Amino acid sequence: MDATHDGAPGPDRASGPAPAARARLTGLRGPVPPADHDARTIAALAANPGCRRRALLDAAGVDKAAVAHHLGRPAPFGRSPFAISRGIAFERRLTADDCAELLATVTERLDGSPAPAHQRDVHALGAGSAEERLERTRLALEKVAGAGASGGWTLLEHPMLTLSVGGTPARLEPDAVLVGPDGGWTVVEVKSFPVLDGSADPVKVGAAARQAAVYALALQEAAEELGLPADPVRPRVVLVCPEGFGSRPTASVVDLRRQIAVTRRQLRRMASLEETAAALPPEVTFDLRPNRAGRPTRDPEDLERSLAAVAADYTPDCLAACELSFHCRHEARACGAPGALGRGARGELSGLGGLDDLLRIADEAVTGRADAGRAEEEQTVAGPGAAPSHAERPNAGPADAERPDAERPDAERAGAIAGATAPAAAPPDAWAIDRVRRAARLRSAALFLPAPPHAGPGAADRGGR
Ligand code: SF4
Repeated sequence: MDATHDGAPGPDRASGPAPAARARLTGLRGPVPPADHDARTIAALAANPGCRRRALLDAAGVDKAAVAHHLGRPAPFGRSPFAISRGIAFERRLTADDCAELLATVTERLDGSPAPAHQRDVHALGAGSAEERLERTRLALEKVAGAGASGGWTLLEHPMLTLSVGGTPARLEPDAVLVGPDGGWTVVEVKSFPVLDGSADPVKVGAAARQAAVYALALQEAAEELGLPADPVRPRVVLVCPEGFGSRPTASVVDLRRQIAVTRRQLRRMASLEETAAALPPEVTFDLRPNRAGRPTRDPEDLERSLAAVAADYTPDCLAACELSFHCRHEARACGAPGALGRGARGELSGLGGLDDLLRIADEAVTGRADAGRAEEEQTVAGPGAAPSHAERPNAGPADAERPDAERPDAERAGAIAGATAPAAAPPDAWAIDRVRRAARLRSAALFLPAPPHAGPGAADRGGR
Protein backbone atom coordinates (compact mmCIF):
# COMPACT_ATOMS: atom_id res chain seq x y z
CA MET A 1 0.00 0.00 0.00
CA ASP A 2 2.93 2.31 0.05
CA ALA A 3 4.59 3.90 -2.85
CA THR A 4 7.89 5.32 -3.83
CA HIS A 5 8.84 8.17 -6.05
CA ASP A 6 12.04 8.35 -7.98
CA GLY A 7 12.35 12.09 -7.48
CA ALA A 8 13.86 12.71 -10.89
CA PRO A 9 12.01 14.46 -13.67
CA GLY A 10 10.04 11.85 -15.49
CA PRO A 11 9.83 11.17 -19.19
CA ASP A 12 8.34 13.91 -21.32
CA ARG A 13 4.64 13.22 -21.32
CA ALA A 14 2.04 15.20 -23.09
CA SER A 15 0.30 15.81 -19.78
CA GLY A 16 3.35 17.29 -18.03
CA PRO A 17 4.24 20.97 -17.87
CA ALA A 18 6.69 22.38 -20.41
CA PRO A 19 10.28 22.55 -19.03
CA ALA A 20 10.48 26.37 -18.82
CA ALA A 21 7.12 26.71 -17.13
CA ARG A 22 7.96 23.83 -14.86
CA ALA A 23 11.01 25.68 -13.55
CA ARG A 24 8.89 28.22 -11.61
CA LEU A 25 6.63 25.47 -10.35
CA THR A 26 9.40 23.21 -9.07
CA GLY A 27 11.34 26.32 -7.95
CA LEU A 28 8.58 26.88 -5.39
CA ARG A 29 10.00 24.09 -3.24
CA GLY A 30 13.58 25.39 -3.37
CA PRO A 31 16.72 23.26 -3.79
CA VAL A 32 15.37 20.22 -1.97
CA PRO A 33 14.24 16.87 -3.40
CA PRO A 34 10.52 16.62 -4.23
CA ALA A 35 8.21 15.03 -1.71
CA ASP A 36 7.15 11.50 -2.51
CA HIS A 37 3.71 10.92 -3.96
CA ASP A 38 1.81 7.82 -3.02
CA ALA A 39 -1.72 6.58 -3.52
CA ARG A 40 -2.87 8.34 -0.36
CA THR A 41 -1.47 11.72 -1.35
CA ILE A 42 -2.79 11.43 -4.90
CA ALA A 43 -6.17 10.29 -3.61
CA ALA A 44 -6.29 13.27 -1.25
CA LEU A 45 -6.35 15.55 -4.31
CA ALA A 46 -9.78 14.15 -5.05
CA ALA A 47 -10.88 14.59 -1.43
CA ASN A 48 -10.83 18.39 -1.82
CA PRO A 49 -10.75 19.12 -5.55
CA GLY A 50 -11.45 22.84 -5.01
CA CYS A 51 -8.24 23.48 -3.10
CA ARG A 52 -5.71 25.29 -5.25
CA ARG A 53 -3.16 25.41 -2.44
CA ARG A 54 -2.91 21.67 -2.11
CA ALA A 55 -2.88 21.12 -5.88
CA LEU A 56 -0.07 23.65 -6.34
CA LEU A 57 2.08 22.36 -3.49
CA ASP A 58 1.67 18.78 -4.65
CA ALA A 59 2.47 19.68 -8.24
CA ALA A 60 5.61 21.47 -7.04
CA GLY A 61 6.64 18.49 -4.91
CA VAL A 62 6.59 20.59 -1.71
CA ASP A 63 6.82 18.61 1.52
CA LYS A 64 3.56 19.77 3.14
CA ALA A 65 4.30 17.99 6.41
CA ALA A 66 7.60 19.90 6.70
CA VAL A 67 5.82 23.19 5.92
CA ALA A 68 3.18 22.51 8.60
CA HIS A 69 5.87 21.55 11.09
CA HIS A 70 7.89 24.71 10.41
CA LEU A 71 4.77 26.81 10.92
CA GLY A 72 4.28 25.14 14.30
CA ARG A 73 1.04 23.45 13.25
CA PRO A 74 1.89 19.83 12.38
CA ALA A 75 -1.12 17.59 11.86
CA PRO A 76 -0.98 14.14 13.43
CA PHE A 77 -1.30 11.72 10.60
CA GLY A 78 -1.34 8.02 9.88
CA ARG A 79 -2.79 4.92 11.47
CA SER A 80 -2.29 3.93 15.08
CA PRO A 81 0.29 1.18 15.79
CA PHE A 82 -2.62 -1.04 16.87
CA ALA A 83 -4.42 -0.56 13.54
CA ILE A 84 -1.18 -1.23 11.66
CA SER A 85 -0.45 -4.50 13.46
CA ARG A 86 -4.09 -5.59 13.13
CA GLY A 87 -3.92 -4.85 9.41
CA ILE A 88 -0.68 -6.80 8.97
CA ALA A 89 -2.07 -9.84 10.79
CA PHE A 90 -5.28 -9.71 8.73
CA GLU A 91 -3.39 -9.47 5.46
CA ARG A 92 -1.09 -12.34 6.43
CA ARG A 93 -4.09 -14.54 7.05
CA LEU A 94 -5.58 -13.70 3.66
CA THR A 95 -2.39 -14.21 1.68
CA ALA A 96 -1.33 -17.49 3.35
CA ASP A 97 -1.42 -20.64 1.16
CA ASP A 98 -1.09 -18.79 -2.13
CA CYS A 99 -3.76 -16.22 -1.22
CA ALA A 100 -6.30 -19.04 -0.78
CA GLU A 101 -8.65 -17.17 1.58
CA LEU A 102 -8.32 -13.87 -0.31
CA LEU A 103 -9.20 -15.51 -3.64
CA ALA A 104 -12.05 -17.51 -2.11
CA THR A 105 -13.54 -14.39 -0.47
CA VAL A 106 -13.23 -12.19 -3.55
CA THR A 107 -14.44 -14.71 -6.11
CA GLU A 108 -17.38 -15.67 -3.91
CA ARG A 109 -18.39 -12.01 -3.76
CA LEU A 110 -18.05 -11.51 -7.52
CA ASP A 111 -19.25 -14.89 -8.75
CA GLY A 112 -21.56 -16.24 -6.06
CA SER A 113 -19.26 -19.11 -5.06
CA PRO A 114 -15.53 -19.47 -4.34
CA ALA A 115 -13.51 -20.33 -7.45
CA PRO A 116 -12.28 -23.95 -7.43
CA ALA A 117 -8.52 -24.44 -7.00
CA HIS A 118 -7.93 -25.48 -10.62
CA GLN A 119 -9.38 -22.16 -11.83
CA ARG A 120 -7.05 -20.03 -9.70
CA ASP A 121 -3.65 -18.65 -10.57
CA VAL A 122 -1.50 -16.37 -8.40
CA HIS A 123 1.46 -14.19 -9.39
CA ALA A 124 3.34 -13.04 -6.31
CA LEU A 125 5.00 -9.76 -7.31
CA GLY A 126 5.96 -8.26 -3.96
CA ALA A 127 9.62 -9.31 -3.81
CA GLY A 128 12.67 -7.69 -5.44
CA SER A 129 13.72 -4.16 -6.28
CA ALA A 130 11.25 -1.57 -7.54
CA GLU A 131 12.58 -1.91 -11.11
CA GLU A 132 12.26 -5.71 -11.00
CA ARG A 133 8.75 -5.51 -9.63
CA LEU A 134 7.69 -2.99 -12.26
CA GLU A 135 9.03 -5.24 -15.00
CA ARG A 136 7.49 -8.41 -13.57
CA THR A 137 4.15 -6.65 -13.16
CA ARG A 138 4.30 -5.46 -16.76
CA LEU A 139 5.07 -9.01 -17.96
CA ALA A 140 2.27 -10.48 -15.82
CA LEU A 141 -0.26 -7.96 -17.17
CA GLU A 142 0.93 -8.64 -20.72
CA LYS A 143 0.48 -12.37 -20.16
CA VAL A 144 -3.05 -12.11 -18.74
CA ALA A 145 -4.03 -9.64 -21.47
CA GLY A 146 -2.72 -12.07 -24.10
CA ALA A 147 -4.74 -14.92 -22.54
CA GLY A 148 -7.98 -12.89 -22.93
CA ALA A 149 -11.11 -14.50 -21.52
CA SER A 150 -9.50 -17.57 -19.98
CA GLY A 151 -12.42 -18.72 -17.88
CA GLY A 152 -10.22 -18.68 -14.75
CA TRP A 153 -9.21 -16.20 -12.07
CA THR A 154 -5.70 -14.75 -11.81
CA LEU A 155 -4.53 -12.74 -8.82
CA LEU A 156 -1.54 -10.41 -9.13
CA GLU A 157 -0.42 -10.02 -5.53
CA HIS A 158 1.40 -6.78 -4.63
CA PRO A 159 2.05 -5.60 -8.18
CA MET A 160 3.89 -2.32 -8.78
CA LEU A 161 2.43 0.27 -11.13
CA THR A 162 3.24 3.82 -12.13
CA LEU A 163 1.02 6.86 -12.57
CA SER A 164 2.11 10.15 -14.08
CA VAL A 165 1.59 12.97 -11.55
CA GLY A 166 2.28 16.35 -13.13
CA GLY A 167 4.65 14.68 -15.58
CA THR A 168 6.55 12.68 -12.95
CA PRO A 169 5.89 8.96 -12.52
CA ALA A 170 4.82 7.95 -9.00
CA ARG A 171 5.16 4.28 -8.13
CA LEU A 172 2.13 2.66 -6.60
CA GLU A 173 1.55 -0.65 -4.87
CA PRO A 174 -2.04 -1.90 -4.73
CA ASP A 175 -2.65 -4.92 -2.55
CA ALA A 176 -3.78 -6.99 -5.52
CA VAL A 177 -5.27 -6.92 -9.00
CA LEU A 178 -7.75 -9.63 -9.92
CA VAL A 179 -8.15 -10.73 -13.53
CA GLY A 180 -11.56 -12.31 -14.01
CA PRO A 181 -12.75 -15.07 -16.36
CA ASP A 182 -13.85 -12.37 -18.84
CA GLY A 183 -10.37 -10.80 -18.89
CA GLY A 184 -11.42 -7.73 -16.83
CA TRP A 185 -8.98 -6.23 -14.28
CA THR A 186 -10.28 -5.28 -10.82
CA VAL A 187 -8.40 -3.58 -7.99
CA VAL A 188 -8.54 -5.50 -4.70
CA GLU A 189 -7.75 -3.71 -1.43
CA VAL A 190 -7.36 -5.27 2.00
CA LYS A 191 -8.41 -2.92 4.80
CA SER A 192 -8.35 -3.45 8.55
CA PHE A 193 -11.43 -1.38 9.43
CA PRO A 194 -14.35 -3.62 10.41
CA VAL A 195 -17.63 -4.22 8.64
CA LEU A 196 -20.38 -4.26 11.25
CA ASP A 197 -23.85 -5.54 10.30
CA GLY A 198 -23.00 -5.19 6.62
CA SER A 199 -21.76 -1.61 6.74
CA ALA A 200 -18.47 0.13 7.46
CA ASP A 201 -17.39 3.63 8.42
CA PRO A 202 -18.34 5.70 5.33
CA VAL A 203 -15.36 8.04 5.79
CA LYS A 204 -12.96 5.09 5.68
CA VAL A 205 -14.77 3.52 2.74
CA GLY A 206 -14.63 6.86 0.90
CA ALA A 207 -10.89 7.18 1.52
CA ALA A 208 -10.33 3.58 0.40
CA ALA A 209 -12.36 4.20 -2.77
CA ARG A 210 -10.37 7.33 -3.65
CA GLN A 211 -7.15 5.40 -3.13
CA ALA A 212 -8.42 2.49 -5.25
CA ALA A 213 -9.36 4.97 -8.00
CA VAL A 214 -5.69 6.00 -8.13
CA TYR A 215 -4.73 2.35 -8.64
CA ALA A 216 -7.40 1.95 -11.32
CA LEU A 217 -5.95 4.96 -13.19
CA ALA A 218 -2.46 3.47 -12.90
CA LEU A 219 -3.83 0.19 -14.31
CA GLN A 220 -5.39 2.11 -17.20
CA GLU A 221 -2.01 3.72 -17.85
CA ALA A 222 -0.41 0.24 -17.85
CA ALA A 223 -3.05 -1.04 -20.29
CA GLU A 224 -2.37 1.93 -22.60
CA GLU A 225 1.36 1.26 -22.49
CA LEU A 226 0.71 -2.36 -23.47
CA GLY A 227 -1.29 -1.06 -26.42
CA LEU A 228 -4.42 -3.03 -25.52
CA PRO A 229 -7.28 -2.30 -27.91
CA ALA A 230 -9.93 -2.04 -25.18
CA ASP A 231 -9.72 -0.82 -21.58
CA PRO A 232 -9.75 -3.96 -19.42
CA VAL A 233 -9.97 -2.03 -16.13
CA ARG A 234 -13.28 -2.39 -14.31
CA PRO A 235 -14.37 0.84 -12.52
CA ARG A 236 -14.75 -0.84 -9.15
CA VAL A 237 -12.78 -2.07 -6.16
CA VAL A 238 -13.29 -5.14 -4.06
CA LEU A 239 -12.67 -4.15 -0.44
CA VAL A 240 -11.79 -7.04 1.85
CA CYS A 241 -12.27 -6.19 5.53
CA PRO A 242 -12.68 -8.09 8.79
CA GLU A 243 -16.25 -8.92 9.64
CA GLY A 244 -17.05 -7.42 13.04
CA PHE A 245 -14.17 -7.37 15.49
CA GLY A 246 -12.83 -10.78 14.54
CA SER A 247 -10.60 -11.61 11.58
CA ARG A 248 -13.05 -13.45 9.32
CA PRO A 249 -12.90 -11.66 5.96
CA THR A 250 -15.82 -10.21 4.09
CA ALA A 251 -15.72 -8.57 0.66
CA SER A 252 -17.73 -5.65 -0.73
CA VAL A 253 -17.74 -4.08 -4.18
CA VAL A 254 -17.53 -0.29 -4.42
CA ASP A 255 -18.24 1.59 -7.65
CA LEU A 256 -15.31 3.88 -8.56
CA ARG A 257 -16.63 5.79 -11.57
CA ARG A 258 -17.01 9.09 -9.76
CA GLN A 259 -13.69 8.83 -7.92
CA ILE A 260 -11.86 7.91 -11.14
CA ALA A 261 -13.37 10.89 -12.97
CA VAL A 262 -12.53 13.34 -10.15
CA THR A 263 -8.96 12.06 -9.75
CA ARG A 264 -8.35 12.13 -13.48
CA ARG A 265 -9.60 15.71 -13.64
CA GLN A 266 -7.35 16.68 -10.73
CA LEU A 267 -4.31 15.07 -12.34
CA ARG A 268 -4.98 16.94 -15.58
CA ARG A 269 -5.39 20.15 -13.63
CA MET A 270 -2.02 19.61 -11.96
CA ALA A 271 -0.41 19.65 -15.36
CA SER A 272 -1.72 23.20 -15.89
CA LEU A 273 -0.64 24.60 -12.53
CA GLU A 274 2.49 26.17 -13.97
CA GLU A 275 0.25 29.09 -14.97
CA THR A 276 -0.80 29.54 -11.36
CA ALA A 277 2.83 29.34 -10.25
CA ALA A 278 3.91 31.87 -12.88
CA ALA A 279 1.26 34.34 -11.71
CA LEU A 280 2.52 34.31 -8.10
CA PRO A 281 4.72 37.18 -6.90
CA PRO A 282 8.42 36.23 -7.15
CA GLU A 283 8.90 36.31 -3.38
CA VAL A 284 6.43 33.44 -2.92
CA THR A 285 8.30 30.19 -2.28
CA PHE A 286 8.03 27.22 0.04
CA ASP A 287 11.78 26.84 0.22
CA LEU A 288 12.78 25.01 3.38
CA ARG A 289 16.48 24.59 2.67
CA PRO A 290 18.19 23.39 5.87
CA ASN A 291 21.15 24.82 7.74
CA ARG A 292 24.10 22.70 8.83
CA ALA A 293 22.10 21.37 11.75
CA GLY A 294 19.44 20.18 9.32
CA ARG A 295 16.85 22.78 10.39
CA PRO A 296 15.05 24.96 7.84
CA THR A 297 16.49 28.47 7.71
CA ARG A 298 13.24 30.06 6.55
CA ASP A 299 11.50 32.67 8.66
CA PRO A 300 8.15 31.01 9.59
CA GLU A 301 6.25 34.31 9.19
CA ASP A 302 7.62 34.71 5.70
CA LEU A 303 6.62 31.12 4.92
CA GLU A 304 3.12 31.81 6.24
CA ARG A 305 2.82 34.87 3.99
CA SER A 306 3.78 32.73 0.98
CA LEU A 307 1.18 30.14 1.90
CA ALA A 308 -1.47 32.83 2.30
CA ALA A 309 -0.77 33.93 -1.30
CA VAL A 310 -2.29 30.67 -2.58
CA ALA A 311 -6.03 30.21 -1.99
CA ALA A 312 -7.08 27.32 0.22
CA ASP A 313 -10.51 25.74 0.55
CA TYR A 314 -10.58 24.36 4.06
CA THR A 315 -13.32 22.15 5.45
CA PRO A 316 -13.08 19.85 8.48
CA ASP A 317 -12.73 16.91 6.06
CA CYS A 318 -9.18 18.15 5.45
CA LEU A 319 -8.26 16.91 8.92
CA ALA A 320 -8.35 13.34 7.63
CA ALA A 321 -6.60 13.99 4.34
CA CYS A 322 -4.03 16.78 4.38
CA GLU A 323 -0.85 17.56 6.27
CA LEU A 324 -1.65 21.27 6.25
CA SER A 325 -5.04 20.84 7.88
CA PHE A 326 -4.16 22.36 11.27
CA HIS A 327 -2.68 25.44 9.63
CA CYS A 328 -5.57 25.87 7.18
CA ARG A 329 -8.08 25.38 10.00
CA HIS A 330 -6.36 28.10 12.02
CA GLU A 331 -6.42 30.40 8.99
CA ALA A 332 -10.07 29.62 8.17
CA ARG A 333 -11.17 30.27 11.75
CA ALA A 334 -9.19 33.50 11.90
CA CYS A 335 -10.92 34.91 8.83
CA GLY A 336 -14.34 33.42 9.64
CA ALA A 337 -14.52 31.29 6.49
CA PRO A 338 -17.84 29.34 6.46
CA GLY A 339 -15.89 26.26 5.32
CA ALA A 340 -14.49 26.01 8.87
CA LEU A 341 -17.94 24.79 9.89
CA GLY A 342 -18.12 22.09 7.24
CA ARG A 343 -18.96 21.47 3.62
CA GLY A 344 -22.67 22.01 4.26
CA ALA A 345 -22.11 25.49 5.69
CA ARG A 346 -19.66 26.34 2.91
CA GLY A 347 -22.21 25.39 0.26
CA GLU A 348 -25.17 27.03 1.97
CA LEU A 349 -23.37 30.28 2.76
CA SER A 350 -21.32 30.58 -0.38
CA GLY A 351 -21.13 34.21 -1.57
CA LEU A 352 -22.61 35.67 1.61
CA GLY A 353 -19.22 36.64 3.14
CA GLY A 354 -17.36 35.56 6.26
CA LEU A 355 -18.99 34.34 9.47
CA ASP A 356 -18.55 37.68 11.23
CA ASP A 357 -20.30 39.42 8.31
CA LEU A 358 -23.07 36.85 8.41
CA LEU A 359 -23.62 37.23 12.11
CA ARG A 360 -23.64 41.01 11.73
CA ILE A 361 -26.26 40.61 9.02
CA ALA A 362 -28.21 38.34 11.35
CA ASP A 363 -28.12 40.94 14.13
CA GLU A 364 -29.14 43.70 11.75
CA ALA A 365 -31.91 41.56 10.35
CA VAL A 366 -33.18 40.80 13.83
CA THR A 367 -33.03 44.48 14.92
CA GLY A 368 -34.61 45.62 11.66
CA ARG A 369 -37.42 43.11 11.93
CA ALA A 370 -38.11 44.12 15.53
CA ASP A 371 -38.25 47.80 14.43
CA ALA A 372 -40.49 46.90 11.51
CA GLY A 373 -42.76 44.96 13.88
CA ARG A 374 -43.00 47.93 16.25
CA ALA A 375 -43.72 50.31 13.35
CA GLU A 376 -46.46 47.98 12.13
CA GLU A 377 -48.01 47.88 15.59
CA GLU A 378 -47.89 51.67 15.85
CA GLN A 379 -49.47 51.95 12.40
CA THR A 380 -52.27 49.60 13.46
CA VAL A 381 -52.92 51.70 16.56
CA ALA A 382 -52.76 55.04 14.68
CA GLY A 383 -54.94 53.87 11.83
CA PRO A 384 -54.41 53.63 8.07
CA GLY A 385 -52.45 56.41 6.36
CA ALA A 386 -50.44 57.28 9.50
CA ALA A 387 -47.26 55.44 8.47
CA PRO A 388 -44.84 57.39 6.29
CA SER A 389 -44.35 56.22 2.74
CA HIS A 390 -40.92 55.04 1.61
CA ALA A 391 -40.17 58.49 0.17
CA GLU A 392 -41.28 60.19 3.43
CA ARG A 393 -38.94 58.13 5.65
CA PRO A 394 -36.22 60.18 7.35
CA ASN A 395 -32.91 60.01 5.42
CA ALA A 396 -34.62 58.56 2.36
CA GLY A 397 -34.13 60.73 -0.67
CA PRO A 398 -36.61 60.79 -3.57
CA ALA A 399 -34.35 58.59 -5.66
CA ASP A 400 -33.68 56.17 -2.80
CA ALA A 401 -36.01 53.52 -4.11
CA GLU A 402 -34.38 53.57 -7.54
CA ARG A 403 -30.78 53.35 -6.27
CA PRO A 404 -29.07 50.21 -7.55
CA ASP A 405 -28.34 47.70 -4.82
CA ALA A 406 -24.57 48.01 -5.31
CA GLU A 407 -24.72 51.73 -4.42
CA ARG A 408 -26.44 51.22 -1.09
CA PRO A 409 -24.42 51.29 2.15
CA ASP A 410 -23.34 47.89 3.44
CA ALA A 411 -25.61 47.88 6.46
CA GLU A 412 -28.59 48.83 4.34
CA ARG A 413 -27.74 46.21 1.74
CA ALA A 414 -27.37 43.65 4.50
CA GLY A 415 -30.76 44.57 5.80
CA ALA A 416 -32.19 44.30 2.32
CA ILE A 417 -30.64 40.82 1.92
CA ALA A 418 -32.36 39.72 5.07
CA GLY A 419 -35.58 41.51 4.17
CA ALA A 420 -35.35 43.62 7.32
CA THR A 421 -35.64 47.17 6.00
CA ALA A 422 -37.59 46.33 2.90
CA PRO A 423 -40.93 48.14 2.47
CA ALA A 424 -43.78 46.34 4.18
CA ALA A 425 -45.12 45.15 0.82
CA ALA A 426 -41.90 43.28 -0.04
CA PRO A 427 -41.68 39.76 1.39
CA PRO A 428 -38.62 39.12 3.55
CA ASP A 429 -35.84 37.08 1.98
CA ALA A 430 -36.57 33.91 3.88
CA TRP A 431 -33.79 32.03 2.11
CA ALA A 432 -31.05 34.34 3.37
CA ILE A 433 -32.51 34.61 6.87
CA ASP A 434 -32.70 30.87 7.09
CA ARG A 435 -29.05 30.49 6.13
CA VAL A 436 -27.89 33.19 8.48
CA ARG A 437 -29.76 31.53 11.32
CA ARG A 438 -28.22 28.26 10.33
CA ALA A 439 -24.75 29.85 10.41
CA ALA A 440 -25.41 31.12 13.92
CA ARG A 441 -26.55 27.69 15.06
CA LEU A 442 -23.59 25.96 13.41
CA ARG A 443 -21.21 28.42 14.98
CA SER A 444 -22.76 27.81 18.38
CA ALA A 445 -22.25 24.12 17.86
CA ALA A 446 -18.66 24.66 16.78
CA LEU A 447 -17.96 26.72 19.89
CA PHE A 448 -19.75 24.19 22.11
CA LEU A 449 -22.25 26.82 23.21
CA PRO A 450 -25.92 26.02 23.71
CA ALA A 451 -27.64 26.29 20.33
CA PRO A 452 -30.10 29.16 20.04
CA PRO A 453 -33.77 28.17 20.01
CA HIS A 454 -35.26 27.85 16.55
CA ALA A 455 -38.41 29.84 17.19
CA GLY A 456 -38.50 33.62 17.24
CA PRO A 457 -36.46 35.78 14.95
CA GLY A 458 -35.11 38.03 17.69
CA ALA A 459 -33.26 36.59 20.63
CA ALA A 460 -32.76 33.32 18.82
CA ASP A 461 -30.09 34.54 16.47
CA ARG A 462 -28.40 36.79 18.98
CA GLY A 463 -28.25 33.91 21.41
CA GLY A 464 -26.01 32.01 19.05
CA ARG A 465 -23.19 34.45 19.33
S1 SF4 B 1 -5.76 21.39 4.55
FE1 SF4 B 1 -5.47 23.28 3.40
S2 SF4 B 1 -4.11 22.78 1.71
FE2 SF4 B 1 -4.90 20.88 2.53
S3 SF4 B 1 -6.67 20.41 1.24
FE3 SF4 B 1 -7.43 21.49 3.06
S4 SF4 B 1 -7.48 23.63 2.49
FE4 SF4 B 1 -6.22 22.59 0.98
